[in-house]
Amino acid sequence: MKFGGTSVKDAEAVGRLARIVARERQPRLVVVSALSGVTDALLDAARLAEAGDGTGAREAVRALHRRHEEMAAVVRATERRASLLAALDALFEELTAIVHALAVVEEVSPRSSDAIVAFGELASSRIVAAALEDAGLPARWLDARSLLVTDAQHGAAIPDRAATGERLRSTVGPLLAEGVLPVAGGFVGATPAGITTTLGRGGSDYSAALFGAGLEADEIQIWTDVDGMLTADPRLVAGPRVVPRLSFDEASELAYFGAKVLHPSTILPAVALGIPVRILNSHRPDAPGTLVARSVEGGEGGPAAIACKRGLTRVDIASSRMLMAYGFLRRVFEVFERFRTPVDVVTTSEVSVSVTIDDRRALDGIVAELSTFADVSSEDGMAIVCAVGERLRTDSRLATRVLGALEGLPLAMVSQGGSRKNITVVLRDADAPAAMERLHRRFFEGGRAPAPRETRATA
Ligand code: ADP
Ligand code: ASP
Ligand code: MG
Repeated sequence: MKFGGTSVKDAEAVGRLARIVARERQPRLVVVSALSGVTDALLDAARLAEAGDGTGAREAVRALHRRHEEMAAVVRATERRASLLAALDALFEELTAIVHALAVVEEVSPRSSDAIVAFGELASSRIVAAALEDAGLPARWLDARSLLVTDAQHGAAIPDRAATGERLRSTVGPLLAEGVLPVAGGFVGATPAGITTTLGRGGSDYSAALFGAGLEADEIQIWTDVDGMLTADPRLVAGPRVVPRLSFDEASELAYFGAKVLHPSTILPAVALGIPVRILNSHRPDAPGTLVARSVEGGEGGPAAIACKRGLTRVDIASSRMLMAYGFLRRVFEVFERFRTPVDVVTTSEVSVSVTIDDRRALDGIVAELSTFADVSSEDGMAIVCAVGERLRTDSRLATRVLGALEGLPLAMVSQGGSRKNITVVLRDADAPAAMERLHRRFFEGGRAPAPRETRATA
């Protein structure tokens, strides 16, 4: 059971979390994010340290310490609260020492940055473990760094699934068998040598999925602040509906193309073992949520949902020999590989290739290298809008209807992936909200009856 930042943001939220955990029939591993806003605040503290502002960085840490101390009030038993406060004191003392040292040298490496941001999940998991115990549940705090084994790519570490599985089976498995509820922070891991790493923003979902797969759980639950995967990002479209069921492929594509409710890698470990993933609302625990599982039927109807990824850069690469000789694509993609820059959407013609990238840090280097054998131009301020659904594969009219809804908006790229489960367009970022609204109106508003509102069986 993974609880996101808003599901642990204050004492009331932690109370709700405890009630949700208590109604489960069997003991489950509880994975928690940092309290909402804390990861951003820790990154701010790191930036202050890097700028040499030791006082500012320590002040930021002190404010975080106070916020966590206030949360400790959820624990009523005096001794338990005292030991939680002592654990928090120790954590924040260590964090203060780290930011102080980094401010002196005015340097924060990716490795140091991970050491700092990890405190968010280390602290929140302590609070949640104590709160669950206080609610009479047999909870036990575990250090996520002893469970999640990763490589040393700080900030976006790659998990070692086999090693993580072994750790889980030897430590968490026996606890669950005894009826204990282990509690650990998400997002955080460590290299085999014990150096702290993190999985990238939003990575607690990924931790939960890795843990679920490692334990061969019967279900992975992602508890958040919305009713499930919605037909569109609620921050862009008014009144999206809950999607009751999604296939693994549909959920992956939606997450990858901007549905923030799931970290894009979350589905991978679940797919490997066919473990269903449920997205649930911690404010409305009886709502059915979204079930992501192996198969859903194709057939008639519209896409499952639409998604949008903004603030992208398009790179157009034209072969200077005016012909796409074989080997050209390989050379193009080798450049992106060398600069470790993932490409989101690709379209090609006889003489040119266009790609979009999210991470433009290496753009200058990429353009310079590509220019040695191609004509290159790039444009910022682009967005991807995509419609996703198994039915796009089975109903050939859907792609036309998607494009029809966008009539009049200038499209820079159009693509349908090999799976034919999505249709993706790239357009100006400024047009993205209009495109989302139009697609949502065409496929999800009016006409179809709303999804049945069954409630989830409770323990
Ligand atoms: P958590 O802290 O629980 O991990 P996140 O903020 O990471 O929560 O993700 C939940 C948020 O994702 C929602 O509040 C919503 O604003 C956003 N979101 C974007 N697209 C979608 C979508 N298609 N369905 C549901 N939520 C979405
Ligand atoms: N706390 C981390 C973040 O804000 C990880 C997560 O919440 O999933 O990115
Ligand atoms: Mg999240």
